[in-house]
Amino acid sequence: MEKTKSNPKTRLAKPAWLKRRLPVGGDYEAVRTLLEKQGLHSVCQEARCPNIWECYARKTATFLIMGPACTRNCRFCAVEQGPKGPPDPAEAERVADAVKALGLRYVVITSVTRDDLPDGGAAHFARTIETTRKRNPGICVEVLIPDFQGDAHALGTVLDTSPDVLNHNLETVARLYPRVRPEADYGRSLELLRRSQSHAPGIPTKSGLMLGLGETAEEVREALNDLRRAGCAMLTLGQYLQPSRDHLEVSRFVPPEAFDAWRKEALDMGVSEAAGGPFVRSSYHAREHYEAMGR
Ligand code: SF4
Repeated sequence: MEKTKSNPKTRLAKPAWLKRRLPVGGDYEAVRTLLEKQGLHSVCQEARCPNIWECYARKTATFLIMGPACTRNCRFCAVEQGPKGPPDPAEAERVADAVKALGLRYVVITSVTRDDLPDGGAAHFARTIETTRKRNPGICVEVLIPDFQGDAHALGTVLDTSPDVLNHNLETVARLYPRVRPEADYGRSLELLRRSQSHAPGIPTKSGLMLGLGETAEEVREALNDLRRAGCAMLTLGQYLQPSRDHLEVSRFVPPEAFDAWRKEALDMGVSEAAGGPFVRSSYHAREHYEAMGR
């Protein structure tokens, strides 16, 4: 799908609650340099996450493997398109080393979507999880995976390495899929979460939605219900922010108290843990989110 530039005249002004001070000091530069030296990518940087200053300063990052380019063309995402060649088999070692150097106890590993690979990159994910574990005994690993085009075997390959959390984002409501994620499928993503629960019921599943893309309250409620029915244990809800003029415009800025209300509603529906707020992202404070489940 061709990207059209948004019109600055129709762009909404950012509300006060989205303006915040950057943290001073911390380990931002150390994390950035380490990733660069190791030839690694983070989704924090590639997706232009608004929390990068905070997370790097706290010495956390979400590793983006098999990247930095993606085979899909989601209209909300800043990651570049068009991966070149097979994944680097040595990347797993470098991720494991970086996790050690950062002294992480909890790591989130994600990837670009690699529809060009026969297994969607599942074996590379598995190798990265296993190598990271081997070099960092006691580490908790959360994986944020693509849909593997519905390939149950690929999902099984990842689950058989027993990640501590299996995360797959629904991102938006069913109606907006063709506009927001033209190459993805709402039902396929829910099916992945369901399959994960039946293949490995001991591994909690997690998913996330962005608000502010044009969804209605009723559609959000329906998506939350679908996620609960798919066995999703952990949920994140955050504000969509337009990464550049080439991406979809924000349809509305959701106030913090509305996120609180959605969070409460999700918990009332039976989701075990929910985080919601303008700056909440899939991997934001992931360790704290996991520990809140009593793990
Ligand atoms: S919220 Fe996640 S993606 Fe964003 S900077 Fe933090 S760790 Fe990176």
